[in-house]
Amino acid sequence: MTRETAQAQLSEMGRWLSQKNYLAAADGNFSLKDEGDTFWITASGVNKGYRQPIPLAEVAIDGRVRSGEPSSETEMHCAVFRRCPKARAVIHAHPPTLVAWSIARPELTELTCDSFSEAILAVGSIPIVPFARPGGLGLAGSILPFLPLSRAMVLGRHGALAWGETLEEALNGIERMEHAAIILATAERLGGAKALPQAEIDWLKARRQELGEKTL
Ligand SMILES: [Zn+2]
Repeated sequence: MTRETAQAQLSEMGRWLSQKNYLAAADGNFSLKDEGDTFWITASGVNKGYRQPIPLAEVAIDGRVRSGEPSSETEMHCAVFRRCPKARAVIHAHPPTLVAWSIARPELTELTCDSFSEAILAVGSIPIVPFARPGGLGLAGSILPFLPLSRAMVLGRHGALAWGETLEEALNGIERMEHAAIILATAERLGGAKALPQAEIDWLKARRQELGEKTL
């Protein structure tokens, strides 16, 4: 993949995520990869809604920097690409309602999605990764137990991570999680989310299995 192709797609993603309020200031980082063993990632310290096109860095999946100044959270992307051979795109953002759930309910190990069909069908489950210090190997290590099974996850007290076979699939993961978080927060204010009957949850989970691994 050429730098120009990656830069056009990742810059468009930066505008989109900023408009959605999923990034503030220099938050977040996103990457694209093709069949090879290097990937393009947004550069460190850049406001991705404002600075366009976004400067990129090229990094090998073993972590060696080929060019540019990659994000401090690049090792997390390396971990996804190494563990998930199907991964071609990774998005890390800070969607506010999703992060708020992990702050208000630190005991949760996943965002509870047994009350509405959309989340079960689209992602199956939304795990909450225990808090790890941002940047470096600690954060990358924290997601390893969830790979390659989970394509969308909350990073406790920090943000969200989604990967996909395309950039659009990774975006679907981020949007799906934040949308579920908003629905559940609204339900809390209206008296609390009520789970579907177990038979319906079982049916939805079986349907999810039939639909395959991709985030919808
Ligand atoms: Zn972050």
